[in-house]
Amino acid sequence: MGLPVLQGAQRPRVGESSHPQELVEWSLKHFAGRRMEMSTSFGMEGCALIDMYARHGVPLVVFYLDTMFFFPETYRLRDRMIERYPNLAFVNRGTTLTPDEQEKLHGPELWKSNPDLCCRIRKVDPMYDALAGVDVWITALRRSQSETRANIRVLDWDWKYHVLKFSPLAGWSRRDVWSYIQTHDVPYNELHEKGYPTVGCTHCTIPVENLVAGEYSREGRWAGSAKKECGLHGEGI
Ligand code: SF4
Repeated sequence: MGLPVLQGAQRPRVGESSHPQELVEWSLKHFAGRRMEMSTSFGMEGCALIDMYARHGVPLVVFYLDTMFFFPETYRLRDRMIERYPNLAFVNRGTTLTPDEQEKLHGPELWKSNPDLCCRIRKVDPMYDALAGVDVWITALRRSQSETRANIRVLDWDWKYHVLKFSPLAGWSRRDVWSYIQTHDVPYNELHEKGYPTVGCTHCTIPVENLVAGEYSREGRWAGSAKKECGLHGEGI
């Protein structure tokens, strides 16, 4: 399906500085009839955005890529989200390659010997299948999450996956997200209470010292290595 052509009165009255809830509402009107789906890793940002869409009562698909290395806390959150938001469809589009099969193919502990390959197998490549046929990919990315995300636009073309990418939280800070979570009593990952600012795989995510739930850092991801991103967003891998 081709991209919508925006003309005259159809042109958006929202922009980079619009409130995320306004952007969410705009997207539901503007992309009505298009296949719009959201991905999540069950971090705090994703939870806030899921709640914003759920409030509109739309049957949105929220998919995730289960790497088979999720924390138990993440599975528990997924189950709580399913219960809290029955109008949304939570779908796993992760790899079918088991950790044992990966070890037979690439040796033990690939996340140590070649984390880029491990991320490609368990995240980057499955995302191509996950986004097949999707017109608009909703993400909970924020510009202030990292230097590599500093130039994220609310609405942009993703050149890796060739899909329109919509990131309503782009301009928000972690404090904004945390405030939304608390105000609306949104379920969030227990890991944030245990010092984990981000949610990833058990092998590559550690808590960050002295960090509380409302603060953000990427220090706990691939600690001790130069790797900062899994490769899903932006160039690389
Ligand atoms: S985050 Fe670590 S364990 Fe997860 S896919 Fe990437 S390298 Fe593998």
